[in-house]
Amino acid sequence: MEDLHGHTKKPLLKVIRKKCIDCCAGKYSEVQKCAAKDCDLWPYRMGKNPFHKRKMTNEQKQAAAQRLK
Ligand code: SF4
Repeated sequence: MEDLHGHTKKPLLKVIRKKCIDCCAGKYSEVQKCAAKDCDLWPYRMGKNPFHKRKMTNEQKQAAAQRLK
């Protein structure tokens, strides 16, 4: 895997989630309560893309949730 100044390829939703948790001083509950709706990351802060409306089976949802942990 390519290394770019110590960074490696990662899922962008996971990167955004991590950034939001950092922005909220590590408090997960504060990420959900974030009121900065003008922030470009706001729609993605919970590790999901709300613009993708894909139907998934319960098994697929559980697998996706495990990947985001
Ligand atoms: S959406 Fe923006 S302001 Fe809100 S927690 Fe994430 S980075 Fe911080």
